[in-house]
This record gives sequence, C-alpha cells and structure tokens, in this order.
Amino acid sequence: MSAVDYPNSELLIAGVWRQGADNATYEVSNPATGRVIGKTAQVGAGDLDEVAAAAWTGFLAWRDVPAHDRSLKLRAAAQRLRDQANQIGHVITLEQGKPLTEAVGEVLTSADVIDWCAEEAKRTYGRVIPPRNPQARQMVLREPIGPVLAITPWNFPMLQAARKLSSALAAGCSVILMGSRNTPATPALLIQAFVEAGIGANAVQVISGDPQAVSERLIADPHVRKVTFTGSTEVGKRIAALAGQHMKPATMELGGHAPVLIFDDADLDRAIPELVGFKFMNAGQVCASPTRLLVQAGIHKRFVEKWTEAARQIVVGDGLAAGTGMGPLVSDARKNAVDSLIEEAASCGSPVVRERAGDLPRLGSFLAPTLLTDVPPHARIMNEEPFGPVAAVFRFETADEAIAEANRLSYGLCAYAYTGELSLANRITREVEAGSVSVNHINVALPEVPFGGIRDSGYGSEGGAETTEPYLVTKFVSML
Ligand code: NAD
Repeated sequence: MSAVDYPNSELLIAGVWRQGADNATYEVSNPATGRVIGKTAQVGAGDLDEVAAAAWTGFLAWRDVPAHDRSLKLRAAAQRLRDQANQIGHVITLEQGKPLTEAVGEVLTSADVIDWCAEEAKRTYGRVIPPRNPQARQMVLREPIGPVLAITPWNFPMLQAARKLSSALAAGCSVILMGSRNTPATPALLIQAFVEAGIGANAVQVISGDPQAVSERLIADPHVRKVTFTGSTEVGKRIAALAGQHMKPATMELGGHAPVLIFDDADLDRAIPELVGFKFMNAGQVCASPTRLLVQAGIHKRFVEKWTEAARQIVVGDGLAAGTGMGPLVSDARKNAVDSLIEEAASCGSPVVRERAGDLPRLGSFLAPTLLTDVPPHARIMNEEPFGPVAAVFRFETADEAIAEANRLSYGLCAYAYTGELSLANRITREVEAGSVSVNHINVALPEVPFGGIRDSGYGSEGGAETTEPYLVTKFVSML
C-alpha cells in the first residue's frame, strides 16, 4: 500500500552517518499491520563519549555563527521539509500509524515552527542597565547555554523534535536528539534536512537506543549543559531528578488530563466537531487531548447524543488507506494499556459507548473511538492519562463543582471550556490551573504561542517569544 519505502536509519555522530560502535540494531514495526518494516542502528555505550565531545565542538562553532546566518539556515531546513512533506509523511504513518493527512500536516507544521524559531534567533536580546558610575557600561547578555540533550516521544515524532531542535539551534546551542524507539526514522529525516541546509556537522546529532542508559550517561557528561524532555510524567520525574543531581537545567513537557467544562449554554454545533476532531486526532495520543468532559446536567443528554453521532463517522483503519480518519495506537502495549482503563471504568459501572464506522481491522493495534459516561471520580480513567481514543463524561450542576473537578488532578497542561457567558469564561481563565486555557475554541501549540505545563505536567515553555528562553543563560557584563 505504501508508495514510499521505509528507511533503515543510522546514527549521526560527529558528522558521520553510521552504525553504533557494537553494530547493534533493533526492529521497527508498523502498528497498522504488526509487521516488521525495517531496522535501526542502536547507539552503544562505546559511542557516547564521542557524541558528547562532538556536541561540545559543534557548540563552539555554531554559537559563533551570526544570528542572521543561523536564521537563514533554519529557514532552509524548513523549506527542505516542505519539499519532502509527502515522502516524510509516509514514513511517519508507516512507523507511527497516524493518517497520512495528519502526518503530512505534522511535517508542514514542523516547518512553520522552524520558521518561527528562525525569526526568534534574531531576538535573543539583552539590555543595558544605567550605571552608578557614569563612566561605566553595564550590560546583560543572553548567551547560549551549551550542548542540549533533547529526548522526544513517538506521538509527534517530527513536531516534538522540531520544536526542541530549532529553538535550541536558534539560541546558538548544539543538539543531541534522541527520538523514541517506536519512531526512529522520523527524527533521522528531520536531522537530515538540517544537515542538508548547511547546519554544522557537530551542531546536530541524532541517536537512538536504550533511553534510560543513554540519558543516565549523557546527562552526567560535563559537555552536556541542558536536558529537554517530552513524554510521560513518570519518566519526566526520573529525568528531572537526574538532571538535578548533575545541576543541569531541564525543560519538562509532560502528560496531561485536560478537562473540558461544557456549560448548559454551550454552542454544541461548534463544540462537538472541534472536540471530537481533536480527541481522536492521532488516536488520542496527544498530551493536550480533551479527556475529562465535564458536562452540565441540563445539556448532558444532548451532548452525549451529538458526540456519539459525530464519533460514529470516524473511519478507523490503516493510515495509508484513503478515507481513514483514525489510525492504530502506536503499539499493542499502548492499546492494551488504554483498553485496561476502559475495562476498569466499565467495572465501576460506567456505560461504555464504542463507536466506529465498519469493523476494526483484524491486525494492528486498533481501538474504536470510545466514550465513557457517568464515570465516578475514583475510576482510573478519571485520574490517569489514557493517551488513547477515549474520553470520560462527568456530570456537574454548578460552576464551583466543575472548576473543583478540573483542578482536582495534579496535571496542569491544557483546559478547555464552552460557555456563552462572559463573566463565567473570565472566571474559568483565572481559576482553572493549566499552562493553557482555551474558551469557546481549541487553540494550543501554534508556533507563535507558548506551550507548556504546570504541576505534574512539567515546567518550561516551547514556542512563542519564550521559545529560546530555556536555551539561554544570563551574563552580566560591567566595563569601566
Ligand atoms: P514512556 O514514558 O515509557 O515513554 C515516553 C517516551 O519517553 C519514550 O518515547 C522515550 O523516548 C522516552 N523514555 C522512556 N523511558 C525513558 C528513560 N528512562 N529515560 C529517558 N527517556 C525515556 O511512555 P509510553 O508507554 O511510551 O507512552 C505512554 C505515556 O507517555 C502516556 O501515558 C503519556 O503520558 C506519555 N507521553 C506523553 C507525551 C507528550 O507529548 N507529553 C508523548 C508521548 C508519551
């Protein structure tokens, strides 16, 4: 079915595409079929000294490239991605499973993010402070922090990597990129675009391997000055602790469990298509995905009916097949993890509505779009991030009750609300604890806006005018 062959990826270490020191490889499977589609080089312990040393020499050269030239090179990388969006999109679908249109969209959005960062490269402004001695000059400079270890996940294998890579490069840092073992080819193709755009050989490297062993070794390395991670809260806490042990700053973009507060006066003709579309995008494997649907009693019945009707239209299948609206989950492990949350909610007495157009494919890690209604707050799904195509409805009477439920969990990534009442909308933006709050539409993670969480959803922002901030340090300079 695929018009594009899946590439067997290599590592880019010190400017050379190669196998790992011990020639180890691992297999990659297509989650839509369960079949092995290729193999990828695995970085070994014997490679990591060279990786860290190359990142340091790459940093020394790249930080001296004028910001305007860095910007042009980033823009050239973005254009390369646009030129190859269809082919790279195919590779994303083959290894990750999402529908081809979403995969191509991810490549194009990544290009937009890189363009945004290319402009921010020119704006790492410092400032001048009036001195006490009129002969003195006091300046605050913003300098690149140094080599960055970027650990990125499988759900948006290009976009998550592009955000970190282009923000760090814009600031003048070198980057060691380690993608997920589920999706190794996409980060390699991303790095290839940067190399072809003329970004210094050691300024970017890409490795793949045992994430725990690699992160333990590289975070401890004195050449590595910063770690940035996107993934689960559980792993994020481990990496943040490790970074703290070695006094390395960290940016943590972790999981979420987004509440949506739907009040009786909500415009469901607007809300339902937006929410259903966003919920089942990427088979729900999105940290910003709407998960707890808090619905006011007066609109509850109509909401569930309209949601069910909309979810029924989604065609589940291989992401490369025409008309597919939702692909498989990334692996059987993820499918089983989500399924166990659904089963547990059912055992707590929650009615389960599984919707699909046609039968689910027999092979592959597929799950039907699922809605759970009247879920008690103690059910696991109301407390653990499902990261899959399932949402849970919770009925409420008052705004106080809805806001309390929205803030009940320790996650704080995204929250959404639908109401026609201005004062209520205003109250929600003030009282709901989250890194971003959208009212009457869904508007998150665009290149020009900051994205990041609070509490167990992590710390630090990516995107917007803040995007280079995590990769800069402050130096005060005084001259007489
Ligand atoms: P996981 O936590 O095992 O892995 C997530 C990613 O973290 C992997 O792709 C890998 O790159 C990295 N990783 C794993 N162990 C690591 C380690 N010891 N050191 C360094 N990096 C490591 O989770 P999973 O089962 O693959 O995915 C499910 C959970 O991950 C979800 O419940 C969700 O919370 C989270 N997740 C979040 C995002 C996000 O965008 N915030 C993305 C992907 C996964």
